[in-house]
Amino acid sequence: MGRMSISLDTPINSLLSNKRRVSALKSFGIVSVGDALTYYPFRVGDPVPPRAIREARPAEAMAFAAVVTQSRVIPMNARRGYRLEAVVEDSAFAATRRMPAGMARLVFFSNRRNYVDWMAMRLATGTQVIVSGIPSEYMGQLQFTHPDIVTVAPAEIQSVDVQPGAATQPQAHTKHYDVSSVKEGLDHVCRPRPVYHASARLSSDRIHETIVGILNMVGGREAADPSSVGTPLQGFETEDEQRFAAALAEAIPDILPETIRAERGLMHRAEAFRAIHDPISVEAFHKGISTLRYEEAFICQTALLQARNASGATPAHPCVSDEEQGEGLVSRFIASLPFQLTEGQRQVIDSIRGDMAKNHPMQRLLQGEVGSGKTVVALAAMLQAVEAGYQAVLVAPTLVLAEQHAETIRSMTQGLESPQIPVTLITGGMKLAARRKAHAMAASGEPGIIIATHAAFSSTFQASNLALVVIDEQHRFGVEQRESLQSKPVDGSTPHMLVMTATPIPRTAAMTWFGDLDISWLTELPGGRKPIRTFVINEDDGRTMASMFSHIRARIDAGERAYIVCVRIDDTSNDGKGGTTDDEATLDPYAVGDDEEQARPPLHTVAEIAERLQKLPQFQGIGFATLTGRDKDEVKTQVMADFAAGKTPVLVSTTVIEVGVDVKQASCIVIFDADRYGLSQLHQLRGRVGRGGTNSWAFLVSRAEAGSPAEARLQVIHDSLDGAQIAQADLEFRGAGDVLGDTQSGMRSSLKLLRVVQDADIIVDARSHAEQLLAADPQLEGDKQLAGAVLDFTRPTRHS
Ligand code: ADP
Ligand code: MG
Repeated sequence: MGRMSISLDTPINSLLSNKRRVSALKSFGIVSVGDALTYYPFRVGDPVPPRAIREARPAEAMAFAAVVTQSRVIPMNARRGYRLEAVVEDSAFAATRRMPAGMARLVFFSNRRNYVDWMAMRLATGTQVIVSGIPSEYMGQLQFTHPDIVTVAPAEIQSVDVQPGAATQPQAHTKHYDVSSVKEGLDHVCRPRPVYHASARLSSDRIHETIVGILNMVGGREAADPSSVGTPLQGFETEDEQRFAAALAEAIPDILPETIRAERGLMHRAEAFRAIHDPISVEAFHKGISTLRYEEAFICQTALLQARNASGATPAHPCVSDEEQGEGLVSRFIASLPFQLTEGQRQVIDSIRGDMAKNHPMQRLLQGEVGSGKTVVALAAMLQAVEAGYQAVLVAPTLVLAEQHAETIRSMTQGLESPQIPVTLITGGMKLAARRKAHAMAASGEPGIIIATHAAFSSTFQASNLALVVIDEQHRFGVEQRESLQSKPVDGSTPHMLVMTATPIPRTAAMTWFGDLDISWLTELPGGRKPIRTFVINEDDGRTMASMFSHIRARIDAGERAYIVCVRIDDTSNDGKGGTTDDEATLDPYAVGDDEEQARPPLHTVAEIAERLQKLPQFQGIGFATLTGRDKDEVKTQVMADFAAGKTPVLVSTTVIEVGVDVKQASCIVIFDADRYGLSQLHQLRGRVGRGGTNSWAFLVSRAEAGSPAEARLQVIHDSLDGAQIAQADLEFRGAGDVLGDTQSGMRSSLKLLRVVQDADIIVDARSHAEQLLAADPQLEGDKQLAGAVLDFTRPTRHS
């Protein structure tokens, strides 16, 4: 077979003959060579020390060279399957360590006959092997159960260049050996080994050997059989090694500009892949990781800066308000409010006024603590567009929130102008006639405000005269969605964009995810707001639970309302885990590990809690309602209306109420199974109460044990009302986890190594280098590889 050239795009099914392995890899998202090389190990194992059998210490990993003296396959009586037992002795190897010879037993169990036969063939009497494993003592003898075995070619053929899978097999030897010398084998097994996220179908070791095999093929070594150990390790300076390194570098060109690589002392890209997947030392592994981490930061920042430069160059409708001191629409609106703007609101409104007056699109992210008054800011921006004769769209993540916005905005714009400023609501579940009418209004280009759920903001939506898109609660949308919202071209101009979020994002994270946006912060809460009192309650503490319910009853009798939040809707079990969670409710996947799952009592459901609480003496005569993402739209609307009006002052729901819902009289919130939520999510939920200047209370109920990590997480919420601090803690608890969830990272999912908090320095450095580079070469004409990587990064993620 002629040598085909392999690139990062080469599909691995053209390289591997083992179809089952190809399909197992696909389940990890590995389809191409590039996918395989960027399937990074999450850690590197310590190198295994070489030790003679007599030096063994129980339960400590070791490796040694030995000769097989006995080997037999024994069918097991009690169970189906076989046991393979081999005895090895290490006199030659022990002598090199000045130790007496020792004996050890190797044991393998399997119910697959062909596996034991294959292993028995490898362990034929007289074969020299390298054994690596963890010793134990069994009936007075040292035993290794399922050790790793590397077979060594017999001495007489060691002078021949034995290469696994090589086209020319050494004459007369049909048997296949893994390595050609003891030294090579020991080098191999004693090297630090990367550890990968694995599955029942494919172990970390198999993944490792496959990736190393692929790396070999990319570098032109024909180690095509991935089930053999593929890398000749001795003599890194050999000609073969040089040829290999050169071929690898050619197939995997560097992305980072040479100057930056040199300045930061980083590896070549090809070298980094090799150091990660086939490290000669733990240091090399870490250097490889740092290199590719920097590369990710650099590509990401270059892409963001380029996008920002590009959008600065596209045209937008300038929304100039020709205000005569206080006569303009925005000023009249501000004057009409029943409260004074906070200083923060005033500043952000000013910045927006400046941005929107320009003839290229505003790109602004407004981060504001829950309850900091973002809606007023958004409305001021929308009115500026309307005043200039354009349309503005406010996109909300849920129906409940869209309806609430429509209502608030209608009442706030009442009487500002005559005729009234049209406020149109468009939702996915709307009756056809109503939707037609709304769409027609949008299409007519009549200046006004349109409020849409993101579901309704579909391809059929066309606003012909759109100057501004406001996205509320950005964290509920994916980045791609945000981009698709803006990229609705209207008469060749791009709308201004204001993105709002209450999930505070640490600065460097914002730089990573929203580096293409200008960022404003609303830190101050409007005056008169009393801090929410937060309690962490153990559900088994009946007395405290009872007094909590009595307290809530007293608040309801005083005319206030209470939210009760549960994780699940009901018990209809179709996922084997007991119940359905809400589509719109996002349960934090990081909160609890899988293994903990089994041991726990089932999670509370909306149905169960509503039924149970209604029966409590504390709630006699109180109206209860439930709300979940599964309810029909009309039901949701009605339920929220009844709750706001006090008809049903207790609302048991899933996290559908998490975002933005603003019922002023709500003063209490109880969150069951609170340990199952992300911290920022709890903070959001808590922000549903205390919006009307009353005292307010949040009760975090859980069955987490005192002193457990879960309880420690809840304590963070108890101790802090500062969203930024909570977000930071959340990131720390999740380690490298993704505070914004998968949808948020969207295309940014190509960030596999970069950690937005720990890698702050890298991000800052990469950004300044990217700025310099783009200033000199805006189109990256001189950096084709980087230009390509940026394009890949910006392209929506492929769904396989
Ligand atoms: P969020 O930033 O969480 O979206 P909202 O915009 O819903 O917050 O505002 C929360 C509440 O605070 C609303 O009832 C709003 O009318 C009120 N509010 C906004 N700005 C002020 C202010 N400057 N002074 C007093 N109340 C305000
Ligand atoms: Mg809001």
